[in-house]
Amino acid sequence: MTGQGIKTQDWEAFRAEARRMLEAALDQMQTASDHPWQPVPEDIDARYAIDGMAHGAGAAVDQILSDVMPYHGGNTHPRFWGWVQGSGLPSDMIASVAVAAVNANMGGRDHGANYMERAVVNWTRASMGLPEGASGILVTGTSQATVIAFQAARLRVLSGLRKTGQGGVRLTAYAGEGVHNATLKAVELLGIGSDNLRKVPLVGGQIDCTALAEMVAADKAAGALPFLVVGTAGSVDLGLFDDLNALADAAADLGLWLHVDGAFGAWTRIADEPYRSLSDGIGRADSIALDFHKWMYVGYDCGMALLRDEAEHRAAFAARPSYLEGAERGLAGGEPWFCDYGIDLSRGNRALKVWTALKTYGAAAFGEAITLNCQLAQVMGQQVEAEHRMALAAPVVSNVCVFTARADLPVQAQSDLNAHIAQCLQESGEAVFSTTRVGDVVMLRAAITNHRSRVADVQAAIAAVAREADAG
Ligand SMILES: *Cc1c(COP(=O)(O)O)cnc(C)c1O
Repeated sequence: MTGQGIKTQDWEAFRAEARRMLEAALDQMQTASDHPWQPVPEDIDARYAIDGMAHGAGAAVDQILSDVMPYHGGNTHPRFWGWVQGSGLPSDMIASVAVAAVNANMGGRDHGANYMERAVVNWTRASMGLPEGASGILVTGTSQATVIAFQAARLRVLSGLRKTGQGGVRLTAYAGEGVHNATLKAVELLGIGSDNLRKVPLVGGQIDCTALAEMVAADKAAGALPFLVVGTAGSVDLGLFDDLNALADAAADLGLWLHVDGAFGAWTRIADEPYRSLSDGIGRADSIALDFHKWMYVGYDCGMALLRDEAEHRAAFAARPSYLEGAERGLAGGEPWFCDYGIDLSRGNRALKVWTALKTYGAAAFGEAITLNCQLAQVMGQQVEAEHRMALAAPVVSNVCVFTARADLPVQAQSDLNAHIAQCLQESGEAVFSTTRVGDVVMLRAAITNHRSRVADVQAAIAAVAREADAG
């Protein structure tokens, strides 16, 4: 064995291939509007099969260009509004190259990237209105951030939890009807059990705090230990926001930890009015889960768990065996270590792409783009109302617009038509809506977290829906 196989013998040739890749990637990003989603080819598994042989960087680049780059998820296109997906940033191109060169392990130790993650945490903390002394960690996304937050919440009421487990204690948590599935998953994963997640009814699209108090009292009387209420800043279905100030008051009265699922909606904090006030009170939360990869447009994956009290954050996760002990100086220094704030020991560098984005464009540009996304959802709502047979499911509150293409049809026919239209427009590359069920009707849904979208895109998309609605 020579062990030479991975060594680059010819750097000039390798540089040429790497530059070819970079140029193609930049081309694709610059011309994102020419590249809607397209179905993957039928033989994609065969194309991607790994034969284990060395084909060289040139062959790898060739195949990435022909078989990988065209078959993206469509979310970089200006008329992509399906689900809630981020649209990616040109600055990610710069950051990802640097990330690969540095190959930082962000679990701990004394190197620059960890200090950068602290800067990102600190900027986000301040943007959300959490006090100094709050702490945070970059994670895969809101799903993981939710698990981290709930574990800390659980430690507050069960201080022996890490040693003894939850035992026979029955914890109960509360969230509004329509809370995202990530909350359910976290409750299941932590062994709290989905039966112990109470869905509180909404009034005017917001958690009914009177009903919440009644449910907490009933659970207490039945021997449970209520510990957590989850507020939503930006609901997946309609983009609704709980009254977070009212919820913070209720949580204080009831002795509950207030967690806010702000996956995308937390970023209304940096938008203009009237959207900013949707998330008023978010800074009073005990914890916030949010994503950079949705409404801050940063490339996947990137979310954050923010906790009001660093001591509570550490109490839930800090634990280092002797071989990981820190030191005053040297590479083993650099306290605090992020492995004491979350699940992972080895961690990738998510900080640099956030930092590069903010450094490149400035925070105000993100506030503007978020505001524009909300305005576009309003415009879409107006266009829907101007089409005499279309109808909105509900008034547009933030960046989500849900509607039916033919309110005049019976329920089943409407559902079939809306689903058909979503599919047709995805396949034609004209626009990507997803669907959601409102009452009994499957409707078209746009969640606009896309800095490339403009009014003309909304107009073209609604015109295409109208055309298909007439054809159907
Ligand atoms: C997307 C989303 C989540 C889950 O976040 P991930 O980053 O996909 O893990 C949770 N809550 C809401 C409201 C969301 O939109």
